[in-house]
Amino acid sequence: MKIALSAAIAALSLATAGAAAAAEDVNIYTTRQEVLIRPLLDRFEAATGIAAHVVFAKEGVIERLKSEGANSPADAILTADVGILLQAKAEGLLQAIESDTLNAAVPARYRDPEGEWYGLSLRARPIVYAAERVDPAELSTYEDLADPKWRGRICIRSSSNVYNQSMVAAMIAARGADAVEAWAKGFVANFARTPSGGDRDQIMAVAAGECDIAIANTYYLAGMLTDADKPEQRAAAGKVAVFWPDQDGRGVHVNISGGGVARSAGNRDNAIRLLEFLAGDEAQRLYAEAVNEYPVKPGVPASETVAGFGAFKADELELARIGEHSAEAVRLMDRAGWR
Ligand code: FE
Repeated sequence: MKIALSAAIAALSLATAGAAAAAEDVNIYTTRQEVLIRPLLDRFEAATGIAAHVVFAKEGVIERLKSEGANSPADAILTADVGILLQAKAEGLLQAIESDTLNAAVPARYRDPEGEWYGLSLRARPIVYAAERVDPAELSTYEDLADPKWRGRICIRSSSNVYNQSMVAAMIAARGADAVEAWAKGFVANFARTPSGGDRDQIMAVAAGECDIAIANTYYLAGMLTDADKPEQRAAAGKVAVFWPDQDGRGVHVNISGGGVARSAGNRDNAIRLLEFLAGDEAQRLYAEAVNEYPVKPGVPASETVAGFGAFKADELELARIGEHSAEAVRLMDRAGWR
């Protein structure tokens, strides 16, 4: 990371000195692990001759961009979850771009109406259940998980996690805050334990019998099923199944990983080319195969493992609207006792 950052700073000095050398670089700030996005960036470099430098900042991308201000070497921002992109936009850290390529590849509900951020892959957040102990005929909607029949049977990660915050914000957009707060109280009352760990840990807990139901992003389950180095994760993933909630209603909550061009971008055109590349057929196939996310571009197939979870109806909510409700979602989860 140190090397990437000094390369980024070097690129900035070059940009100041003369445009020619800088035209060969793009500096990326990301919350995504480099190991996940490096194969995509390698292909981008090979296809365009533009060197992609990565600064990995899992928790601190927003803070970092704010403190660096106009001097930031960042050209592009790549994140998991729309929540971070919405925060970046609200803080004035992104800039609007116009791209026919992006508008054609990314469905309108998965990009900012003002062109400041674009979804690049989709992540569905369904119910994962213990195949031996739960009859899928008992399952229906997220709302039903507040029913007392699930008392002591549900595992989910903390409310401080942005995936849950976005999921609850999407519920508020659909049903209003009062209905969702009443739901959250019943849902939390059904928790098997105080939330801890990530989505994989919730799936492990279901497999171990600590709970019967979890809510988790599908790429975690797919990652466990195909993890060559972790037989215990493969075994656990084999004991659970995916249930697609609310298929007669608004559909499964779907979030994005995505990106935008930094306000500070010295290599603006290269940042746009990067986003366009990531939304193209080749990169979309790589997202599907390497990361087990759903391609955002219609017509590009999911990986075999993920396709095995079955087809589903996704919530059609415009993700930009999640931003209107995320602060309320955090307060509401807190009031409901969701730790
Ligand atoms: Fe994740």
